[in-house]
Amino acid sequence: KSCGLGTLLVAVVWLLALLFYSHSLRSSIRSAGWKIEERNATPRAELSYQARVTIGCTPTADKNGTAARESPPGAQPNLQSDPEQLELLGVVRNKQDKYIRDIGYKHHAFNALVSNNIGLFRPIPDTRHKVCDRQETSEDENLPQASIVMCFYNEHKMTLMRSIKTVLERTPSYLLREIVLVDDHSDLPELEFHLHGDLRARLKYDNLRYIKNEQREGLIRSRVIGAREAVGDVLVFLDSHIEVNQQWLEPLLRLIKAENATLAVPVIDLINADTFEYTPSPLVRGGFNWGLHFRWENLPEGTLNVPEDFRGPFRSPTMAGGLFAVNRKYFQHLGEYDMAMDIWGGENIEISFRAWQCGGAIKIVPCSRVGHIFRKRRPYTSPDGANTMLKNSLRLAHVWMDQYKEYYLKHEKVPKGYDYGDISERLNLRERLQCRDFGWYMKNVYPELHVPGDESKKSAAAPMFQPWHSRKRNYVDTYQMRLAETELCAAVVAPKVKGFWKKGSSLQLQPCQRTPNQLWYETEKAEIVLDKLLCLEASGDAQVTVNKCHEMLGDQQWRHTRTANS
Ligand code: UDP
Ligand code: MN
Repeated sequence: KSCGLGTLLVAVVWLLALLFYSHSLRSSIRSAGWKIEERNATPRAELSYQARVTIGCTPTADKNGTAARESPPGAQPNLQSDPEQLELLGVVRNKQDKYIRDIGYKHHAFNALVSNNIGLFRPIPDTRHKVCDRQETSEDENLPQASIVMCFYNEHKMTLMRSIKTVLERTPSYLLREIVLVDDHSDLPELEFHLHGDLRARLKYDNLRYIKNEQREGLIRSRVIGAREAVGDVLVFLDSHIEVNQQWLEPLLRLIKAENATLAVPVIDLINADTFEYTPSPLVRGGFNWGLHFRWENLPEGTLNVPEDFRGPFRSPTMAGGLFAVNRKYFQHLGEYDMAMDIWGGENIEISFRAWQCGGAIKIVPCSRVGHIFRKRRPYTSPDGANTMLKNSLRLAHVWMDQYKEYYLKHEKVPKGYDYGDISERLNLRERLQCRDFGWYMKNVYPELHVPGDESKKSAAAPMFQPWHSRKRNYVDTYQMRLAETELCAAVVAPKVKGFWKKGSSLQLQPCQRTPNQLWYETEKAEIVLDKLLCLEASGDAQVTVNKCHEMLGDQQWRHTRTANS
């Protein structure tokens, strides 16, 4: 879709609009809600800057529903050529190791050898902001008890076991009512025999319940099947390839205890599918485009002003879908999921619209962190090969979006008369719960979404920079740099040398993905750093490149401006 732009091989854009070293703006610049204090008192000349950026043509998420739900495409690592990469990817000692890794990529789309080597449990970095409460909760707080519902289809066994083990290790037992596993008719041999007994023995947990579907149901019906079996006060849905972080559950339960119609969503940290490296996610919220594809986006301007703001929670128009907590009775009241949705896709947008339109809310809880393996592709298809995302999206569009569904139908060029089944039950639900219309949602929950043909919103362009997340004292912010009015982000696309980006590489625009080559950290000195090593640098020939951080400021010191050409 983005390839129209790709034909422009080299385009001159205002990428980082102006480097302000000017006197007037130096005392303090309030940008995107984050105040940057000027430290250096020497006046410098004002410098306006135009960057030359190559626009590459990279395919965005494909339409047939086989792309991963969130995050990254990007090249598979070249396993043969780079010895340092090889080290990270797990030392292959013999034929068996190689087999495990190769078949793992085939079945699971991640590195099963590394996962096996990690084993049942490992320490992971505590990625919470420093303002997050680190005190142990006591039973006196009377938080509701959680039932974990974890569905899986042909999950890698060690990864599945570790997902459960991290919950057991990092959740106070008095808050954990049970874990309900729903095996969605897996047919991998290692999952077929005595799985339940095997897991209970290895994990030493009695309240591990196990349901095996008699036929493949897909993640949407499987979750409802699990939820109906659960008895805890709160349901927590988790994917089967996750690692929960320190005190992940408490802030979710606290929010639900205070607001029982709120769906509480943790921040989804990244577990690299090749190396299993665990890295924090920036603070972002969920949105969608008119293809009804979920997308991450910046928090509204002004959300994060002072450190306390990093505790959240933040209202979010949608959620990514894989991980969230909800009061069990409320989930029932709200109509669970649409049981006629198949396999994968759309259900997260559906429950998002439904929650907001029917009196509930979706909030991101930044002090709750759960790592999730982001794969480059989904390793399974639907049994009949159908495009379940399309059918599911059509159902939700017709039930919840009123006249706005036309934007979707047009955007996706859905053939007239495409069969999405009977939606009368869901329309009854909408009626019964007296839900608000989609116009209300647009106005009150997601006014930022651009409506095709409406130019008024275009003028209120998102700032180039927005604060996302702060995790280390010397870093004040993390962001992607998105070119205003596009879904393209500044990225370094360069070969890695010994595991590091090549110095002097220039920037390119790529479809926005939360990959390391698009994540920029801002330091207290107003440097903009990629991958903790390379600094954004104004090179002599009017180019912007990344280069070794020299800590001398000057050509590596940057200032926020509100829009691209202000
Ligand atoms: N899943 C399932 N049945 C299916 C497809 C998926 O039970 O038919 C499970 C899957 O094993 C995972 C969860 O549902 O635990 C979410 O699926 P997946 O991780 O593939 O989605 P993504 O994270 O890529 O959006
Ligand atoms: Mn997943």
